[in-house]
Amino acid sequence: MIRQDFHRDAKRRNVVDHRKTQFAAPSYQDTQYPHRLSFYSTPPTADITLEQFEQWAIDRLRILAELEACSFRNKTPAETAAHMKPLLDKHLPLDASSSNHSQLHAQRQKDHYSHFILRLAFASTEDLRRRFTRVETQLFRLRFQADDSRERAAFVRTLNLNWDPVSDEEKRRLAPQLASTIGFGHGKRAQHVMDEDWCKVDWMRVPDLIESRKVFVRMGKAYVPGREQQSMVLNEYTGRLERALELTARALPRLDEDDRLNPILNHLSKNFIAPDASYTGSGAAIEGAEMTARNVDKLTQHYPLCMSHLHRTLRRDAHLKHYGRLQYTLFLKGIGLNLEECLVFWRSSFNKITDDTFNKEYRYNVRHAYGDVGGDSNRRGGGYSPFSCQKILTEHAPGPGEAHGCPYRHFSMDNLSTLLRATGINDRAVLQGVHEDKEKQKFHMACNRVFEHVHKTELRRARDDGIMTAAQLETIVHPNEYFKRSYLLKNMGKADVKMEG
Ligand code: SF4
Repeated sequence: MIRQDFHRDAKRRNVVDHRKTQFAAPSYQDTQYPHRLSFYSTPPTADITLEQFEQWAIDRLRILAELEACSFRNKTPAETAAHMKPLLDKHLPLDASSSNHSQLHAQRQKDHYSHFILRLAFASTEDLRRRFTRVETQLFRLRFQADDSRERAAFVRTLNLNWDPVSDEEKRRLAPQLASTIGFGHGKRAQHVMDEDWCKVDWMRVPDLIESRKVFVRMGKAYVPGREQQSMVLNEYTGRLERALELTARALPRLDEDDRLNPILNHLSKNFIAPDASYTGSGAAIEGAEMTARNVDKLTQHYPLCMSHLHRTLRRDAHLKHYGRLQYTLFLKGIGLNLEECLVFWRSSFNKITDDTFNKEYRYNVRHAYGDVGGDSNRRGGGYSPFSCQKILTEHAPGPGEAHGCPYRHFSMDNLSTLLRATGINDRAVLQGVHEDKEKQKFHMACNRVFEHVHKTELRRARDDGIMTAAQLETIVHPNEYFKRSYLLKNMGKADVKMEG
């Protein structure tokens, strides 16, 4: 589906591998998009350029990452819809057929292609498949709810979901039983039953609705009211996508043959982090703050627990293992330490080894993280982005002797309490709250709880004086945001520190 319009590839393409030919019988044609919504059952086949391939995928990824960030911040469905609307309009618009928008086909084509490109990027591991399915279902739900009701009903009819419509005659006959499932008393019930769009399905397909008594069951069929049909459509969407991703995962080895796509796909899957939670060295720097190797020890008072633990381990052992170095280096880059200062920091911290060993074994990795060396696609944005909480919490759990990860997740409760006490958190209510958050697996909530405790005086002042906006005080989902907010709060009122978050 990529238009092969790169001269530099021309020579290579002339040598046709016989294995490629067996998959190379596509019928290049434009897909028609009669509906706004899609279950993405047919892969696209028409030509697009490599630039479109990448840009469309990045745009969809922004949307998915933002949706994930919304659920991470416990936003309600209404808040999520309001938050997502301008982003969807900008990056992945999808207008109703009735709008007669001139770009309708182009919008739907982009939606179709970007979904399939990300399927390729996120099919490789079970963890990525699960995350992709979860956020794609969220996106589908958002669009399903916002869809024009007539267009939505027409779309659902195309899905062959094995639903039988319930005739008006049957509704009339079963009105008392049907009314009780939608919560209407005598009097009004007949009209409501008649107005509702009912369908009949095998009762085994809706165990959750039966359990919550939201359907009437008769002769093996459950009578589902229109308002509950959304969950059936969503279940169907999720189930089909899960199966499709598994098939994609099995087909992935064939893609190894295309060395133009793999770097893009790898880059996409590695950067599946919330864009609002990603930091670049310059974007997160704080004006007026002294970000030097010499000052790092002092700055640790603003660190979240993950970074405090890395720093303490580094000071204790004069060494950190690979992932710990990477997590910490990117954090330092995010707070505004430049490459030279970062190299000075690591060199002076690894004080038990010679210059020669440092230069041979460690210098390159630091430069690579900053995008100063290395030829892969991560260089595009000036190296890697600092890791978000989401990434730290879900990827590369630390093994023995490793200090990276998130202590709220990766430490036992006892070790976590010891670490918190060592960093000065002794308040029993806070420790108890952290304990409960950890048990409920709300690790970032535990981190935010500690942040609020440590900064309670400053937060009160910031709120009372309106110094920081509600957005600047939202739940923290990134270690660099933790640092920045802590620094700004503790330095509130100092002339040279700007309160922009
Ligand atoms: Fe670090 Fe995030 Fe864990 Fe807090 S929740 S300790 S910032 S990874």
